[in-house]
Amino acid sequence: MKYIFEREFDKDNNIMKIGGKAAIGHCQYYNTLILKTMESFGYVDGLKIFEEVAEDVNKESLEKYLKKHPEVKNLKDKISVAEDMYRTLGFGLIEFSDVGEEGAKVIAPVSHFALTWKKRWGKRSSPSCYFTKGYIAGVISVIFDKPLGSYEVKEFDCISMGDRICRFEVRRI
Ligand SMILES: [Zn+2]
Repeated sequence: MKYIFEREFDKDNNIMKIGGKAAIGHCQYYNTLILKTMESFGYVDGLKIFEEVAEDVNKESLEKYLKKHPEVKNLKDKISVAEDMYRTLGFGLIEFSDVGEEGAKVIAPVSHFALTWKKRWGKRSSPSCYFTKGYIAGVISVIFDKPLGSYEVKEFDCISMGDRICRFEVRRI
């Protein structure tokens, strides 16, 4: 099932909205620079903040979307919409499998963050897809109606490390 991209421009306030939420478009280079900045903090866990914000924002977006689209009812359709939303918003390609209330497996054959990191700064020694981890946690918590922070996502393989695909596992905390 496809995600329907709903964009509107609020002329009075000069704000672009996607799915009713104010949005700004950034290229992949800008986004990886944000990631590099968040990673450079020594005194706060910037990557955790990055991941948690991604979970929060994407959870809210998908929740709003599903409320507006009651035709997206079953697990298969919700996952399909979440995968298509990720692609439509320009983050890459993502595929969920073995999805259940206790967790899931996810791969990203294409990752906006990982491909750009490798192209710009070379191979990393650790995974880079913190935004995607947050996205995945947000999706699973929406589907099983759980609060923020209910799922832990770990990335085991990452394109930015030279792996063919990014590979994640989700488990309920
Ligand atoms: Zn990755």
